[in-house]
Amino acid sequence: MGPPSQTNTIDFDAAKLQRMGFASQKVRAPRPISLAQLRQQLALQLQTSLDAERVLSLFFAGAQQLVPLDALSYQQPISDLRVELGERASHSAAYRLSHEGEYLGELVFRRRQRFSDEELGQLESLLASLLFPLRNALLYRAAVQNALRDPLTDTGNRIAMDQVLKREVDLARRNLLPLSLLMLDLDHFKEVNDNHGHCVGDEVLKAVAATLKNQLRNVDMVFRYGGEEFLVVLSGTGREAAGMIGERLRHAVLELQCLAQGAPIDLSISLGCATLLPGESADSLLRRVDSALYVAKREGRNRLTMAG
Ligand code: GH3
Ligand code: MG
Ligand code: MG
Repeated sequence: MGPPSQTNTIDFDAAKLQRMGFASQKVRAPRPISLAQLRQQLALQLQTSLDAERVLSLFFAGAQQLVPLDALSYQQPISDLRVELGERASHSAAYRLSHEGEYLGELVFRRRQRFSDEELGQLESLLASLLFPLRNALLYRAAVQNALRDPLTDTGNRIAMDQVLKREVDLARRNLLPLSLLMLDLDHFKEVNDNHGHCVGDEVLKAVAATLKNQLRNVDMVFRYGGEEFLVVLSGTGREAAGMIGERLRHAVLELQCLAQGAPIDLSISLGCATLLPGESADSLLRRVDSALYVAKREGRNRLTMAG
């Protein structure tokens, strides 16, 4: 038998983070730090994450080594992103960030004392190291969001639905809150395609999805379950309230004015409604709401059936 083999491993992540002063708060770069040093440090640190919140909090911590700050707030409405770090204070310096015409959001530094011109100059210089990491984080965020959406109807797709459903079932169980589902399907939708063509069918699907979202408090909870089927997740909502919301959706679709060559298209939906039972799994809840929808179809369509 030969000598026991030895494998040396280097924990790359830990080693790298240590070099950059992450691992222990004690290894933090000693003050004072020069602007050039800090820019170099930020350039390394900020590229370690694609999470916009993390990038901003690293930036906030770094900037404070040079310029004392009480708070940093950031918002980017297009990405639906808002970050508040630290404690709000009266003096502020606001920056509209953009790169080659691309809008990257609004960033505000705050603190109790006024900012001097020199400090503002330093902050502006530091902002340059934030631009690319922030832009990458925003692109990543958009890519993740797109991967969870249905492009035609701008509702959540099946991947998002599975994630949300699992999460909401866990939350409902933990917090002893009700949770209901509505599953709905357009009635005789094949006829819309057959009579008016697929493009009109697509427009109808979009209009129905928009109507559903308009009627609901939380538009993030509408998912395209299949071709012309949608699932609505109603967290914190019991059986009776869910039934009422379902009826409201049914009426809203009935009143929807869709035209094909100037003539109105008759539209209706059938719905199933089910409320989570104690100890029930997400799969079982889905099966019950699906069966309820099936009953609504069988009993004549344009109606809502409560799951047994
Ligand atoms: P029912 O009342 O029983 O639900 O009748 P239906 O005609 O709606 O049901 P069926 O399942 O027979 O047909 C669904 C149709 O939906 C068939 C399919 O071509 C259409 N469809 C599914 N996805 C899309 C889509 O993205 N765009 C368009 N235009 N049509 C779609
Ligand atoms: Mg249908
Ligand atoms: Mg269907």
